[in-house]
Amino acid sequence: MPKKYIDIDSLKYVLYDIHNLEDVLVNTRYEDHDIESLDLFLDSVKEFSDRELFPYFKEMDEQPAYYKDGAVIVHDQVKTLMQKGGEMGLISASFDYEDGGLQIPFLAHTAATYIMDAANNHLPGYAGLTQGAAELIIEFANQELKDTYVEKMASGQWGGSMCLTEPQAGSSLSDIVTKATPTDEGHYKINGQKIFISGGDYQHAENIVHLVLARIEGAPKGTKGISLFVVPKNRPTADGTLEYNDVMTVADFQKMGQRGYCTTHLGFGDTQDCRGWLVGEPNKGLKYMFLMMNAARIGVGRGASAIAMAAYRASLQYANERPQGRKLTGSGKKNPEEKQALIIEHPDVRRMLLLQKAVAEGSMSLVFLAAKYYDIIASTKDPKEKEKYHLLLEMIIPMVKTYPSEAGTASVNNGLQVLGGYGFCTDFILQQYYRDIRIFALYEGTTGIQSQDLLGRKVTMENGKGLELLSGEIMKVILEASKDETLKKYATTLGEKLQLTQQVLQHLLPFAKKGNYERYLADANLFMEHLSIVVVGWLWLEIAVDARKELKNEQRKYPEVFYESKVKTMRYFFAYEIPKTNALTESLMGNEEVTIKTAKEHII
Ligand SMILES: Cc1cc2nc3c(=O)[nH]c(=O)nc-3n(C[C@H](O)[C@H](O)[C@H](O)COP(=O)(O)OP(=O)(O)OC[C@H]3O[C@@H](n4cnc5c(N)ncnc54)[C@H](O)[C@@H]3O)c2cc1C
Repeated sequence: MPKKYIDIDSLKYVLYDIHNLEDVLVNTRYEDHDIESLDLFLDSVKEFSDRELFPYFKEMDEQPAYYKDGAVIVHDQVKTLMQKGGEMGLISASFDYEDGGLQIPFLAHTAATYIMDAANNHLPGYAGLTQGAAELIIEFANQELKDTYVEKMASGQWGGSMCLTEPQAGSSLSDIVTKATPTDEGHYKINGQKIFISGGDYQHAENIVHLVLARIEGAPKGTKGISLFVVPKNRPTADGTLEYNDVMTVADFQKMGQRGYCTTHLGFGDTQDCRGWLVGEPNKGLKYMFLMMNAARIGVGRGASAIAMAAYRASLQYANERPQGRKLTGSGKKNPEEKQALIIEHPDVRRMLLLQKAVAEGSMSLVFLAAKYYDIIASTKDPKEKEKYHLLLEMIIPMVKTYPSEAGTASVNNGLQVLGGYGFCTDFILQQYYRDIRIFALYEGTTGIQSQDLLGRKVTMENGKGLELLSGEIMKVILEASKDETLKKYATTLGEKLQLTQQVLQHLLPFAKKGNYERYLADANLFMEHLSIVVVGWLWLEIAVDARKELKNEQRKYPEVFYESKVKTMRYFFAYEIPKTNALTESLMGNEEVTIKTAKEHII
């Protein structure tokens, strides 16, 4: 196993110096916290991850979750995570005090979970889903449901899951058919099948509280007729015991990655005795879920970015230890008498490592930025500020989910390449990161669906206000960078790419105005890639502006080489990634309409 799974200095640098966690703390909600106490919290999570997560990473892949006699058996470390994680407040850290939480800013909690994801991405999901399910109850359910469930979930005694997907309803949730029939006793009878449910059942949880989307009999068709229910695996009775609630575990999906994180098929109401309790009002289920969706999407981006980070650390270690070949001399001749060079000496290997670093840390900055916006929205009292950051968050959220997942997968692929043949072998960890990260572009809305959200909804919302605000934020950094002679040319380049984005939109938007949405959205994925590269370019330029200032500061926090490496990585991003926007623009502005005009009969 590699020695290091995370560069904690870079994480703290992006958290404290780039996204200024301190700014978030000015709000009264966080008045009991300061940087020192949050730093201690992060250090305790790092220590916990070193001890309880990272050592089990490989083992959890080799001993995956499996189905046996109606139950799912997972690795014992899931129990440790839920128990000790619960005791440390990892599940409830961002909840209000009155709900048993620590009122920790979401940004700090995101950084803490990032560390855990990098250590072992098979484990934090169990706690994360429990947190998400409890949050839905806190936010929208009645007091009785809150009193029954939240405390036990926050402590890790009971797990939680999110049940949206059905065999015929994956990307399109409007096709959900799970049925909820009202009874005279206050609860509903639930009937249906849910597939791909993460953390849906495991032997260590005394109970699992499922948050289930279902349709009340007679509800309108489509998304407007979907309601949300609390459906526990075991229902609490008046005498405090638990009674089986007819939630059957049908299977555990066997996967190529995240094999320690179980993915279950659940059957509700096989013997007509499954009870569900309505959360909030009928037919508002999807709306409630969507209100939690931003946090969930930040969570997916966070996980992918953390895996990209861990893979980078492993590739970097290998590249610094593996001798192979000799450096090309000026004449191009190799001297066999010379000692072999370490592979990190070869420019092509450095290209791959720099790509990994650029994606891992660039996407970490993107994820933390979103978490910061999330905190500002949750805590500000100023309606104008709330509206501004709400639009900014909505604008970036599809990219926060997608860029770390897609670029992260490409970066881990390069990381595997750094190891040569060993990268393909199970003795080395890169192949596991490669398999694990692949899911992130699929769940919580595929890249295709996120891209349609970005171009179809976010770009056009409020007459383009979100994109206008985002462009304004990018321009601020461009202006700042232009004042530094060394950074000026990168600032100019970024400004030009932002103009390219505008040209692309001027070309595409008329299709939407004419109601030709198929044409407008046909290349939404390409637009996603284009804008994400511009956005991550912006974030790297922001880091370079700060690093250049620190290089002139005698009192700098980290050594010179730390800041130099940030500036160098920004230069890599502008030399190798930013130019991709040109090729993407060419395709986006093309008029061939190949994917629309090629009939399915011609795809043979
Ligand atoms: C490991 C794992 C864990 C999961 N965990 C959960 C969970 O905890 N809870 C839960 O509810 N679900 C969960 N899911 C389900 C996941 O969210 C879905 O798999 C995902 O939303 C895609 O749905 P699908 O698999 O039915 O694919 P489809 O929707 O069938 O998509 C197939 C392909 O078609 C494309 N496509 C579909 N519709 C359109 C369209 N309208 N326009 C353009 N392209 C389109 C997609 O982008 C994709 O490329 C999980 C899935 C996996 C694999």
